Amino acid sequence: MHIKSDDIVKVISGEDKGTVGKVLRMLRDEHKLVVEGVNRVYRHVRRSQKNPQGGRLSKEMPISISNVMLICPVCGKASRTGVRLKSDGAKECFCKKCDATIRALSPASAAKTRS
Ligand SMILES: [Zn+2]
Repeated sequence: MHIKSDDIVKVISGEDKGTVGKVLRMLRDEHKLVVEGVNRVYRHVRRSQKNPQGGRLSKEMPISISNVMLICPVCGKASRTGVRLKSDGAKECFCKKCDATIRALSPASAAKTRS
């Protein structure tokens, strides 16, 4: 999975299945991510100096990366992504539905730029 902050993803399992949202944060070490509006928990907060209003605070909790699919910015579909090597040695992530390049992963390798 090649998901980064600000990518748009679709939740494919769990309570928020079908929800589409923006990736707010990646927790790579835990293989989790936080998606806007997904897995939101509410906390009732008592009036305090920090929260003079009190009330409800909502917060998105991380979900497993395996529960989301990247939405391809080109075809707009939740897509499987693949990694391919271009002829110049550069690596890129692509959409398996429309074949568009989603993002470059690594630049052309120095050894192969001579052509
Ligand atoms: Zn696509």
